[in-house]
Amino acid sequence: MKPHIFSLQGEQALAMTMALQPLLAFDFDGTLAPIVTMPDMARMPSGVVSRLRLLSQRLPVAIVTGRELADVRKRLDFTPKYIVGSHGAESELLDASPMWVSAMASAREWLQPFRTELQDLDVHIEDKRSSIALHFRRARERERAQRRLEEILKTAGPALHVFGGKLVYNIVAARAPDKADAVHAVMAREGSASAVFIGDDVNDEPVFQRAPAHWLTIKVGRTSWHSRARYYLDSPSEMALLLDRMLAQLAAAPAPSG
Ligand SMILES: [Mg+2]
Repeated sequence: MKPHIFSLQGEQALAMTMALQPLLAFDFDGTLAPIVTMPDMARMPSGVVSRLRLLSQRLPVAIVTGRELADVRKRLDFTPKYIVGSHGAESELLDASPMWVSAMASAREWLQPFRTELQDLDVHIEDKRSSIALHFRRARERERAQRRLEEILKTAGPALHVFGGKLVYNIVAARAPDKADAVHAVMAREGSASAVFIGDDVNDEPVFQRAPAHWLTIKVGRTSWHSRARYYLDSPSEMALLLDRMLAQLAAAPAPSG
């Protein structure tokens, strides 16, 4: 079992990382904003927003989400230095290659004959351009909807990458950058000495997995799979407290010159 970030070991790791003036990168849903039944209602608690505002005055903040850029932007109530959408595929740092664009066009075509059937199963198809999400959270018969979805998704071609999340399946182009590519691109741009990355879902695991030893990685919530994050938080309700700890570490250290 990984240690909680509020354990002695976690607090020491946080202090060491914060002393390096790290990039602070966060997933959105299930991390900064609690998971809600209607994804459209997802919002950050005001206590999280106010602390992120303060942190973003001192350190580069990046939001790295499965949502579309335009969608997440209107939910933030503050302006982070970087926003990456569609699981890493949509950002100002990584140009959309024609290859991913055509892969997503073929995904739409392949999905077309299943649309009515999926609608009847209460599966919500969310087209985010650089990715497509198939939500079965609202299905009356969740297991049946999930089984059928899995059958359908098996027929997706090799140009597409399918991965699960919380009551959702996501489709991206097989060669599109993932969240790990995105965080590494932001790090390269920013030139930070270290990074903190916090996420809660399967699509955050590539970041945890590819994080160098001096990065601080935190998984929100305990799950069935073995997370590669080094620390964990019990739930998004602990986020404001964690951001407070970060602010306290910054207050204890002198502001960087220049
Ligand atoms: Mg999430």
